[in-house]
Amino acid sequence: MDPDHPQRLRQQTILAKFGELALQSDDLDEILTEACRLVGQALGTDLAKVVELQSDGKTLLVRAGVGWKDGVVGVATIDAAGDSSEGYALKSGEPMISPDVAKETRFKYADFLIDNGARAVANVIIIGGKDRAAFGILQIDSRTPRDFSEEDVSFLRGYANLLAAAVDRLRVLHDLRGSSTRLRLALDVGELGTFEVDVETGQTTRSSRFETIFGVAPDFDRSWNALLERVLVQDRGAVAEAMRISLLNESELRVECQVLHTDDSSIRWIELRGRPESQKNRLIGIVADITERKHAERSLVAANETLESQVSDRTESLATSNAQLDSFAYTVSHDLRAPLRAMEGFARILLDDHTEGLGAEGQRYANRIVGAAKRMEVLIDDLLAFSRVQRADVAMQVVDPARSIERAIADLRASGMGDAGVTVDVDPSFPPVRADRTIFAQVMNNLVANAAKFRRRNQVVHIVVRAEEQDGWVRLWVEDDGIGIAPDHQVRIFNVFERLHGQESYPGTGVGLAIVKAGIERMGGTYGVESALNQGSRFWIELRSASFVAPDASN
Ligand code: ADP
Repeated sequence: MDPDHPQRLRQQTILAKFGELALQSDDLDEILTEACRLVGQALGTDLAKVVELQSDGKTLLVRAGVGWKDGVVGVATIDAAGDSSEGYALKSGEPMISPDVAKETRFKYADFLIDNGARAVANVIIIGGKDRAAFGILQIDSRTPRDFSEEDVSFLRGYANLLAAAVDRLRVLHDLRGSSTRLRLALDVGELGTFEVDVETGQTTRSSRFETIFGVAPDFDRSWNALLERVLVQDRGAVAEAMRISLLNESELRVECQVLHTDDSSIRWIELRGRPESQKNRLIGIVADITERKHAERSLVAANETLESQVSDRTESLATSNAQLDSFAYTVSHDLRAPLRAMEGFARILLDDHTEGLGAEGQRYANRIVGAAKRMEVLIDDLLAFSRVQRADVAMQVVDPARSIERAIADLRASGMGDAGVTVDVDPSFPPVRADRTIFAQVMNNLVANAAKFRRRNQVVHIVVRAEEQDGWVRLWVEDDGIGIAPDHQVRIFNVFERLHGQESYPGTGVGLAIVKAGIERMGGTYGVESALNQGSRFWIELRSASFVAPDASN
């Protein structure tokens, strides 16, 4: 057709008109409806619509249109998956024309189309933008059968492409608006202000929150240097230097400083972060008020200092009380022992040399003095041993339990306790443990001595000493078949001076198991007892096996 043909001219004018509108409007529905109206004008029909492909990829919704009855635009749908001409146009990307719907054999048309009097149909795809699916179909309907000429179809193609560009522009705009809304939200939630410095002119552009945080009025001087003046003098150099380095190296700007707020003269801590954009000759950044954080940091430092000084005071007073305890222990061992020995010595002299003068009653008393003095001496020895275990330096080394156990049994025999009433079975092999040799020997002595001591009158007690090794720990058992311990008492017997029996039946000071507890704890081990009244007792201690290798913390 002649390009100057009046219809061709009209189409070109309409194309230009639509192009103008498509660039001006931000309203997609307005653009689509206007597209339908104009295309109708260009092709001399009053029925046109745009169907939009839905996210399921197969439903087309009548998004906009002209000439349709109520209940079509925004409501009616077409199944693009079936044998519809719309679906076919979508799949092939080619225009689909039905000059007479009544005679159409290839496609089925939706009922609403026929109801609205469409007799001829032309479908042209509205392609999607980059990486996007097609938007849908531009559909021109005619109320009478008609042939769409080649010119009509090529006009429609061009028109649909223009429409596609307009739709894509709006989609991009929409996405951009979405991300700028999200950015604004993030800035709001994070209470961040934004700023931009033009590197050449030194002028700044700032968000209103920036001005609030920085403490300057909206009409405050726009130059960076003027802002710098608001930074407290002690921080100003650091900020200027940070800015210089950031621009020089094109590296991130990150600096904390204090600013003086002009309105209420308050001083606030702020953090400036930014990134230079050399192509645009600018630095863009954000500002945050970090006053609360700074105050919290300061309080933390102050609290730490107080804590440190408290700890050092306590350590000092602990050292003093340890020293006092040392001197107490010394007093107990020397000063108290001397009069005790004198008492015992004089009572013995009375008994040896003045038997007659004393008479029977006097002798009984003198004997009781000797007995009491001896008990007192044992008590002092035990207390000193206990205080030594609590405070002595612990020298951990590899210790063979067998040797300490043998010595404990030998001591038992020597003391006369391990007589014919005691049998001892010792495990032939003990895994070596990590322990302090002296403390370990004290612990074993006490456990073995107790096992021999707390037996039924006139009955032989069987003691078994054995070991178990598991997961880097060695558990040593000292078991007896003696009087046993009721479950209620099994915890408190490890406390100092806790005893369950009178001196007459079972002599003792109640310090032995307290030494076991303190000693094992100091060596980083655990202890316990399994027992029931009259069922014997099974005391155990657990220490690190000598073969245990601590996992390397650096791995
Ligand atoms: P002591 O042996 O001087 O009485 P210990 O601290 O060694 O003090 O023990 C505390 C108490 O625990 C004992 O008086 C006794 O009642 C109970 N006890 C300790 N070992 C055994 C044991 N093997 N069998 C039964 N009771 C025990």
